Amino acid sequence: MSLRIYNTLTRDLQAFSPIEPGHVRMYVCGMTVYDLCHLGHARSMVAFDVVQRWLRESGFRVTYVRNITDIDDKIIRRAVENGETIRSLTDRMIDALHQDADALGVQRPTHEPRATEYVPQMLSMIGRLEAKGLAYRAGNGDVNYAVRKFPSYGRLSGKSLDELRAGERVAVDDGKLDPLDPVLWKSAKPTEPADAKWDSEFGAGRPGWHIECSAMACELLGETFDIHGGGADLQFPHHETEIAQSEGASGKTFVNTWMHNGFINIDNEKMSKSLGNFFTIRDVLKAFDAETVRFFVVRSHYRSPLNYSDAHLQDARNALRRLYTALDQVSAEPEAVIDWTGPYAARFKAAMDEDFGTPEAVAVLFDLATEVNKTRSPVLAAQLRALGGCLGLLQGDPKAFLQAGASLDDDAIQQLIEQRAQAKKGKDFAEADRIRNELLAQGIVLKDGSDGTRWEMAS
Ligand SMILES: [Zn+2]
Repeated sequence: MSLRIYNTLTRDLQAFSPIEPGHVRMYVCGMTVYDLCHLGHARSMVAFDVVQRWLRESGFRVTYVRNITDIDDKIIRRAVENGETIRSLTDRMIDALHQDADALGVQRPTHEPRATEYVPQMLSMIGRLEAKGLAYRAGNGDVNYAVRKFPSYGRLSGKSLDELRAGERVAVDDGKLDPLDPVLWKSAKPTEPADAKWDSEFGAGRPGWHIECSAMACELLGETFDIHGGGADLQFPHHETEIAQSEGASGKTFVNTWMHNGFINIDNEKMSKSLGNFFTIRDVLKAFDAETVRFFVVRSHYRSPLNYSDAHLQDARNALRRLYTALDQVSAEPEAVIDWTGPYAARFKAAMDEDFGTPEAVAVLFDLATEVNKTRSPVLAAQLRALGGCLGLLQGDPKAFLQAGASLDDDAIQQLIEQRAQAKKGKDFAEADRIRNELLAQGIVLKDGSDGTRWEMAS
């Protein structure tokens, strides 16, 4: 069987074959670098890292572009607040992004273009759109895209222009022909810092967000390429507009396969700063090791919603411990080559070939771990480690992973159990729960009985 991918554009699973045989060209929308990456970014980065790893494993050469938006309203505002240049803010945030991505085992893309380095390409695309009557200069100095002139606008998100418009707030007088018209070139405001504007035939200003991706993708991957990915929240207006701009300018199909990863929720609620349940990758890495976070993302399907909670992360940690425990018992052959005709590897491949079915692929790892526990076979242990490697997992030292979860010694555990008993006696149940959870975070489960509290390592 060969690879099938769910295409958001056609809403079905399609057999995948790249335009150029053996070579996949893929673009994924990256971060706007004004702050640290949050859990939603972690999900998208890990999801498409698994995609590019599996494409390579399947024998393709992959040119993978993940852009960096380094000019934007939020960036300008933050740089002014901090009293620093845009470049110093964005350089710092790109360093932080790389550290977080590296920690999560996300391999670097082939190209990581910064939007500010492609402004000439963006201007050239806007010029072509204007020449074709798809772009117009508005009274406020901006250049906008005329969505009504692009009949298939709305196709990706499956909505008509009228339906899309109903969901939009009515724009105040900003000179738009249609409230949905995206801005291609924003005219500079006198108050904006000098490093936030470029001179152009459209006046001093800066690019809109959507044109950045169109221009960088076409420049680095060509006017038609294989896969475009991003979070589901980017379908409209971002990806819808990318299609309108790129196809409007080139007259060719922009992308064959559109892939979107699902949302991340926190304790079943949408993650947002206003709800106070907003986590950066660094917040999470204070409580859990990076491989556990990666495993938590990988074991659910990339299109499913993903619910984050401490209990789910703890559960992921315990599950990963089971895999490492199997590897710890047998010395696996180093650098094993995967035998794809073996029953476990064949099942793993079938799962991954069906729209990157990581939940089933992870289930195969557990079946294989059970077999390793039973047979103590170094060959099977090596297959387990190598298959885990396809998902960016299980490459660490088993002993180090297992010991990291048991960092408390017996005395420290007994002391916490005693503190918890005192808290319960004083009816401070919140404190008692806190201690229980603190131990749980270390992989230690408490069992209350008539003769006191026992503890055991979570299995
Ligand atoms: Zn984009």
